[in-house]
Amino acid sequence: PQPVVAVVGRPNVGKSTLVNRIIGRREAVVEDVPGVTRDRVTYDAAWRGRRFTVVDTGGWDPDATGMALRIAEQAQIAADLADVILFVVDATVGVTDADEIVGHVLRGSGKPVILAANKVDNQQMELEAAALWSLGLGEPYPVSALHGRASGDLLDVILDAL
Ligand code: GDP
Ligand code: MG
Repeated sequence: PQPVVAVVGRPNVGKSTLVNRIIGRREAVVEDVPGVTRDRVTYDAAWRGRRFTVVDTGGWDPDATGMALRIAEQAQIAADLADVILFVVDATVGVTDADEIVGHVLRGSGKPVILAANKVDNQQMELEAAALWSLGLGEPYPVSALHGRASGDLLDVILDAL
């Protein structure tokens, strides 16, 4: 069986866009409306000859009651099924309460976590990415899923963690 990389994060941070970068195809549905990827969708990927499975995790309804619990549950489900967790945060927004909850769950999972600071579309934005150190998950890796900026570097980091 191939190692599993689970992509987790708030709605609209660019998880599906990043999944498309990783798999090199446009199969994951990207939407401007938050919370579109409802269920976990699995894809085959390969980088430098290593094969692995990518799971685009379902979002949660940002307006639902008991949201903190739902977020924690979703993060835990993703952590349980993953060998490596790719936690995506929107660097243009910074760390939100929901990101803190996810970060807390992932830190307790015992699984390797790679922190992707997405929407770093240019070099100026890299300063924003540094704010994500506060999540306590180590180095944030700046990436632009939309433009492909540094996505190869991120894939190298993922490969090292597999
Ligand atoms: P998901 O809900 O986390 O799966 O997010 P999506 O992949 O559906 O993307 C949500 C929105 O963010 C879409 O409008 C994307 O085009 C946009 N987006 C994703 N990645 C980037 C990025 O690197 N830079 C910018 N500027 N926008 C992005
Ligand atoms: Mg999505």
